[in-house]
Amino acid sequence: MQTSSPSVLRSLMEQYGIYPKKRWGQNFLVDNNILQRISSLSGAHPGLYTVEIGPGMGALTQLLAQQSRGVLAIDIDVSLRAPLEQVLAPFSNVKLLFADILKVNVEQELVRQFNLDQMPEYTICANIPYNITTPIIFHLLENCPHMQGATLMMQKEVAQRIIAAPGGKDYGLLTLMTSYYADTRWLMTVSRNCFYPRPDVDSAVVQFTPLPQPRVQVQDEEVFKAFLRTAFQMRRKTILNSCASFFSVSKDYAQTKLEHLGIKPNQRPEELSLEELASLVNRFLE
Ligand code: SAH
Repeated sequence: MQTSSPSVLRSLMEQYGIYPKKRWGQNFLVDNNILQRISSLSGAHPGLYTVEIGPGMGALTQLLAQQSRGVLAIDIDVSLRAPLEQVLAPFSNVKLLFADILKVNVEQELVRQFNLDQMPEYTICANIPYNITTPIIFHLLENCPHMQGATLMMQKEVAQRIIAAPGGKDYGLLTLMTSYYADTRWLMTVSRNCFYPRPDVDSAVVQFTPLPQPRVQVQDEEVFKAFLRTAFQMRRKTILNSCASFFSVSKDYAQTKLEHLGIKPNQRPEELSLEELASLVNRFLE
């Protein structure tokens, strides 16, 4: 069923008494061309499983089902069950799970839903709810070690933060955390006119390809992440002040450490690369 056609989508929603819910970021894609491009760029093929987050009314799900071995589609909104079951009836390789993605162990669920005896090869493809984009990205990068890739549509401004270079206003925790785990690629920009209802922002599709190992070696991952969170919460603080307070050391001591690393004490965290920040934290933990 062409749920990518606005009129078909609207009449299906009417039939089931469904209205788009803002709190769950329900903006449904109604542009067939964009849907086709996303599903084909996702790399889905008959040997691979696909996990979709937020299938909504199933527009993207149908395309992924045609291309994949199986699709696990996870949505928080149980009122979508009836229309989704209707739309996806022709596809026997789709499993629906109604749950909050942030509370789901994706890999465990994939094995369980398809009754597999080992972890299959899989990718992730989704037009995700924009209000929880960052938590979803962190959740996937930290908890989906076997995914081959993730192709995610998000608000354009968030995509810009992901691919940002050091020194600019977009560069920050999200840039560093994604680059720690994955290579990222901007696939396309998508106009707000491609959605029903039309959101207030434009969108972009970013592809994540996880690295075999994190991009930099850190002595203590938790401390490293905690340092990044603290430093980028106070972006106007100098790196000297951030180091002195985070590691509870004197400014003199912190300054000597920074000078050994070739980092100027008055630099801001956003001027430092992932590599510099990793060697900085390693040095303070010595
Ligand atoms: N993929 C569809 C719908 C995208 S809208 C399309 O492109 O048309 C975002 C979807 O994410 C909605 O269906 C919404 O119900 C779902 N969603 C919102 N919060 C969620 C959460 N925490 N876990 C899983 N799904 C969620």
